[in-house]
Amino acid sequence: MCGIFAYYGEKKNAPELVIEGLKNLEYRGYDSWGIAYKTPTEIIIHKEIGKIGDIKTKDLELGESGVAMAHSRWATHGGVTKANAHPHFSENKEIVLIHNGIFENYSEVKKDLIKKGHKFVSQTDTEVLAHLIEQHTRKHSFEDSVKLAVKEIEGRYAIVVMKKDEDKIIAARKGSPLIIGVGKTHGEYFIASDIPAFLKHTNKVIYLDDNQICVIENRKINFYDNATNEEIKKRIIEIDLDIESSEKGEFEHFMMKEIMEQKETLNRAINQDPKTIEQVAKAIESAEDTYFVGCGTAGKAAMVGAYLFAKISKKQIRFVFGSEFQNYKEFINKKTLIVCVSQSGETADTLEAIEIAKEKGAKVAAIVNVESSTIARTADMVIPIKAGPEIGVASTKATTSQLAILTMLAYACDGGVEIAKQLLIRTASQINDMLNPRYAEHIKKIANKLKDIESMYIIGRGANFPMALECAIKLQEVSYIHAEGFAGGELKHGPLALITKNTPVIALVANDDCRKEILSNAQEVKARGGYIIGVSPTNEEVFDFWIRVPDTGETSPIVNIIPVQILAYQLAVLRQNDPDKPRNLAKSVTVK
Ligand code: GLU
Repeated sequence: MCGIFAYYGEKKNAPELVIEGLKNLEYRGYDSWGIAYKTPTEIIIHKEIGKIGDIKTKDLELGESGVAMAHSRWATHGGVTKANAHPHFSENKEIVLIHNGIFENYSEVKKDLIKKGHKFVSQTDTEVLAHLIEQHTRKHSFEDSVKLAVKEIEGRYAIVVMKKDEDKIIAARKGSPLIIGVGKTHGEYFIASDIPAFLKHTNKVIYLDDNQICVIENRKINFYDNATNEEIKKRIIEIDLDIESSEKGEFEHFMMKEIMEQKETLNRAINQDPKTIEQVAKAIESAEDTYFVGCGTAGKAAMVGAYLFAKISKKQIRFVFGSEFQNYKEFINKKTLIVCVSQSGETADTLEAIEIAKEKGAKVAAIVNVESSTIARTADMVIPIKAGPEIGVASTKATTSQLAILTMLAYACDGGVEIAKQLLIRTASQINDMLNPRYAEHIKKIANKLKDIESMYIIGRGANFPMALECAIKLQEVSYIHAEGFAGGELKHGPLALITKNTPVIALVANDDCRKEILSNAQEVKARGGYIIGVSPTNEEVFDFWIRVPDTGETSPIVNIIPVQILAYQLAVLRQNDPDKPRNLAKSVTVK
């Protein structure tokens, strides 16, 4: 979480440049923002509460500078205030720092620094780090002080630091992404938590890995291993990403643009080398035990995957949330495989599961969207989902692509990757009927009816049970309506008590073995006064409102989530929420 963007080079408009670039990373955090830049005599800081996307640099009266850093925050320690926004100064105001992550042991370090006379102006863990670096500068060089200070951090971090009177900018990472862009002019560098920040300026990148430090000075860049302090050589990679895919185009919001892209993104997920899928399928077959791991929406896709394996390849797979994986560590060994699902490939909880798995000698496969991400680079096998940049915080197109890959994987374990491919090609062409304004207009009718309600529920069975949970996430994230998903059969064990007259309940009905039972569950709700919105290939008597989806057989989770993505989007817009930047959330969840 949080966006980091820094510039070092010959351009004199660095403050403006970092603000403009950071606007492309706003999906990472957007409660407040700030910049710092150097003038020949001082470091100037400017911070504000709110979204950087709304800022016009002309109004800020920025000075000229060739070195600047900017940060958009997703608060973890301390409320959303100007004082807590980054960058943070050290005690003597000579060192300035931006940070992504959590300095877990900050309170002990803070106590110690207070004893040494340091005074703090914010509640953040980040400010403590700036002071800690300064404390070290009393005996060591600036560069060594940063190296010493980061060794003391417990937790995941990415930082960028600079010091008054030193022509130097230093970056370090452990567990949170940092990418260096190599500029077109000699000695020009960009440091960012994601590539879209500098894509306008360069497509040449260097990925900083965990426990590595990068020092830019005198127009040169050097990398060090922070454990050994040895210099390391890094490779420059030319990446193939176009700026348009990170822009909204004709759409008002990224979320709608990304929903509408799903036919194309599904086709991209399907049309990849079957060997990649088969390699992971073989690993599943030979593993003694396989765990599917994911968080949030990717977790729900992984959960669907476990159902698909039970049904299609008759294989038992356990699903575990990344944040819960540590509870299973006793069962992980060399014969275990974990298959991680993540959009960003930077999800801290999933990365932690990978670390545990690797420690125990298990193999790791990853289904990710960002192919250059930490998860992709750490895993033994990678299946890219090829959905392209997903900017809306609420995941849409990445979800359906993850589901497509998991479907192919389940069929591949049964020797039928080609069958899966044909099924998914048909599905992709059938979903085309849903991705148009007419379909959205139909859903808008129900959005208008629901826009002022307090709670709604979603039910599903089999593979559509995790999809009911995912529908709830979509509605919560962007509409802020209380939404919960249940397995249809679980209703009578508690949630049915919540149904009163007109309580809206979405029933995900597929043309599968669960059809009759889920329709009976819908009847149970209706008998208590509930209002049934049926997502189904056929209209049924129990439905008060019908949203038609194509009948695609085993891929029903893919088609059933799409109308609910559209509904969530429309509710967000009707309730005047920003669907791309939901309150309190951020994409790429790099904190635990
Ligand atoms: N822990 C820091 C804070 O609360 C950094 C959060 C972030 O990654 O944006 O300010």
